[in-house]
Amino acid sequence: MPAAGRDIVSELGCRTFINAAGTYTRLTASRMPDEVVAAIQVAATKFCDLNELQDRVGERIASRLECEAAMVSAGCASALTLGTAACVAGDDPDLIKRLPDTEGMKGEVIIQKGHRIGYDHAIRNTGITLIEVETREELEKAVNENTAMMAFINTKAPDGQIQHEEFVEIARAKGVPTLIDAAADIPPVDNLWRFTKMGFDLVAFSGGKGLRGPQSAGLLLGRKRLIAAARLNNSPNSDAVCRTNKVNKEELVGMLAALELYLDQDHEAVWADWEGRCDRIAEAVADVEGVSTETFVPELANAVPHLRVNWDAGARGLTPTQASDAMRDGEPSVEVRPGATKTLEIAVWMMNPGEEELVGKRLREVLTA
Ligand SMILES: *Cc1c(COP(=O)(O)O)cnc(C)c1O
Repeated sequence: MPAAGRDIVSELGCRTFINAAGTYTRLTASRMPDEVVAAIQVAATKFCDLNELQDRVGERIASRLECEAAMVSAGCASALTLGTAACVAGDDPDLIKRLPDTEGMKGEVIIQKGHRIGYDHAIRNTGITLIEVETREELEKAVNENTAMMAFINTKAPDGQIQHEEFVEIARAKGVPTLIDAAADIPPVDNLWRFTKMGFDLVAFSGGKGLRGPQSAGLLLGRKRLIAAARLNNSPNSDAVCRTNKVNKEELVGMLAALELYLDQDHEAVWADWEGRCDRIAEAVADVEGVSTETFVPELANAVPHLRVNWDAGARGLTPTQASDAMRDGEPSVEVRPGATKTLEIAVWMMNPGEEELVGKRLREVLTA
């Protein structure tokens, strides 16, 4: 779909690039499919009651994902704050107004030490204190009358002793609600219902990563009572801790459009297309001496085909970081996966079709320069 509007990014001279990095927020993450942009454009011309639209969107999402209830949040981080606020202040109007002052409320959230990540700031935004535990025994002992919630970060599962089912089982026995952050864990598509069916009371996803909805949207799924409470702690209510996390009709309809498009796509065909892109980039450098490639799939977070490019940095006089910089500084500019310093890693899933040819060509030029 040709863009009819002003090209402000170019007007302002901001660098644009081929996204061979993946869904990184700093790099604007994902590109919404044309159908999603079109649905947003239509919604943008209409006024409606924001709560009514959130109700209807939530019902549709819950029915498609076979969970009790759902809402659209301002990203996964916002869903973490909302879910926590729902467990701390619930639907009590006085308590909702008091957050992030948790005095007189359950003010503790239990998390495994290995699950601590920067994004748990979103949980702490409600004013709660995180209680770190390592063993099952410590976890069971940590639960007390101040425990509001137990939090699990899916991508950190290997760094904790307690795995999903056991975590849920302990929480259930103690009567404590659970929240799982699965921000970047779609695909696989069945993660959209796996965690609610497993018994997590709240499940949070990014809307603008693998789902390719608006970058500023996310999903919070879970128990009817908790989603209703999360809504009360959210915008458009002004005296609420998440009034800072506004979603408007554009995010609401964009999120629903992206989710339905994603659910209805041929996942196997998309996967095969990604593998084909990796193969074509590998072919472009196949005869460069001393360079080898392998397609790999991260086990957790961004679990899609990526290409790893290996060479002897000393022999070639080129480190992976220097190669990444050269890709960025070239024409067209290409951003590869950040943070991969031992090898160069390429994500193919956020490229436009055909861009893998340009990436392969640039990679070959950089490696043979
Ligand atoms: C990306 C990410 C988030 C934040 O998601 P947003 O949708 O950008 O708010 C939270 N947790 C984890 C593990 C993530 O990877």
